[in-house]
Amino acid sequence: MANYEAVIGLEIHAQLSTESKLFCTCPAGFGGGPNEHVCEVCSGMPGALPRLNEKAVELAAQAGYALNCRVNDYSLFSRKNYFYPDLPGGYQTSQYDPPICERGHLDIEVDGQAKRIGITRIHMEDDAGKCVHGQGGQSLVDLNRQGTALIEIVSDPDMRSAAEAAAFMREVHAILTCMDVTDGNMEEGNFRCDANVSIRPKGRAAFGTRAEIKNLNSFRNVQKAIEYEISRQKACIEDGDPIVQETRLFDSAKQITLSMRSKEDAHDYRYFPNPDLPPVIIDHAQKEAWFSRVPELPSARKRRFVDKFGLSEEDAALFAYDKHISSYFEEAVNACNEPKRIAALMNSEFLRECSSSGILPPQSKMTPARLGELAKIIDQGLISLRTAHDIFPDLFSSGGSPEEYVREKSLAQVSDAGELEKAVLAAIEENPAEAAAYKDGKTKLLSFFVGQVMRKTAGKANPALVNSLLQEKLK
Ligand code: ADP
Ligand code: MG
Ligand code: ZN
Repeated sequence: MANYEAVIGLEIHAQLSTESKLFCTCPAGFGGGPNEHVCEVCSGMPGALPRLNEKAVELAAQAGYALNCRVNDYSLFSRKNYFYPDLPGGYQTSQYDPPICERGHLDIEVDGQAKRIGITRIHMEDDAGKCVHGQGGQSLVDLNRQGTALIEIVSDPDMRSAAEAAAFMREVHAILTCMDVTDGNMEEGNFRCDANVSIRPKGRAAFGTRAEIKNLNSFRNVQKAIEYEISRQKACIEDGDPIVQETRLFDSAKQITLSMRSKEDAHDYRYFPNPDLPPVIIDHAQKEAWFSRVPELPSARKRRFVDKFGLSEEDAALFAYDKHISSYFEEAVNACNEPKRIAALMNSEFLRECSSSGILPPQSKMTPARLGELAKIIDQGLISLRTAHDIFPDLFSSGGSPEEYVREKSLAQVSDAGELEKAVLAAIEENPAEAAAYKDGKTKLLSFFVGQVMRKTAGKANPALVNSLLQEKLK
């Protein structure tokens, strides 16, 4: 089986950050009691007419530009017909042919290896409602989510490992969240993916039969589900069993995929253009305007953090791929031009405090300017790293000025050479035996003297200064 390779293509669904739904004015946000965000359009009443949300078109086009796609002047909505209790109209409204965006690509990196993954298409569609099973033995339908705006991003079958698929999903997530195309919340199902997996003997051009694993809602699940699926298919071939084209589910507790139903083909859906919606026509000026609003993307930001700020690859990736962390970091650097010091403080203290108190960086009382101020007083030698570490939790929860805090609590390092010299001379005078031994060559005793000086200054002496003063006076 070592001569087999996996072929993987992803279909990623992202809920667009529009305030209202795709074809009506009902609120698109999470929350609300069951069926409170519902009108005649999104509940599929006969004769109710949909109207397209312009913001959704803008966000879909921007996603297309960020993923290097062609954005079509002309695209169409079709009806994708199927029956399900949470689909009141009996069809999903989805772009079939042509979709809004086509033929793009995205570069990913796995183990330092860059790879380009093709993007087949991006289309807009509305989401379905939700069945809630088991309440008093009944199944209930909640249509709040019905009609919310989605884009589906379909990749070419270009990935060859679970790690590549997870990297692709991460990269798309980082791009779309940094542009506010989607909030990317995976727990609420606002960013999820279907993984298509097949295997074939290495070197063969034709693809094998694929299984499609539905609704994977974390990077880890994508990785685990695909790994399992590849080994399952290899085992089928070894046992001489056929691989059937089917839809499977991932059971994340057991870490296995399970057959759900045989896979339908496009013709099963009886697609036809939705007669209630005119074609989507985007003019040149509009496209230019949307294109020009695509911001710096995470991969470019990471490069800049390495090249301009001197961060390590790991720190740069950690900071650049998260929208909140990267903007916090950049604001702190604007306040105090000490990027490496700020990165170190964020890594060692700030992000830990954020995660243990369960808040996002922008909600922190400690503003980026305050963190910058802390970095500055460390660099100026006003406080030691040790003191910074000790006072960090206080500063984090109060949001106060680090400099004022240090002055109020008299925590400032003693860097006044005159004052330190007094303490150094006193320490030598009080310990004549050790001083004599030091002069005889027991230079290890230096740390003993440093300790004495620290005790005299309640730990606030600037250690570098103490060291050099002691060496000078002990000669
Ligand atoms: P659908 O799943 O909706 O029928 P497509 O047939 O266009 O749509 O395929 C969807 C996804 O499956 C794409 O991401 C594509 O790259 C991937 N795919 C197609 N054939 C294979 C295959 N043999 N092995 C793995 N992935 C595949
Ligand atoms: Mg599919
Ligand atoms: Zn509605």
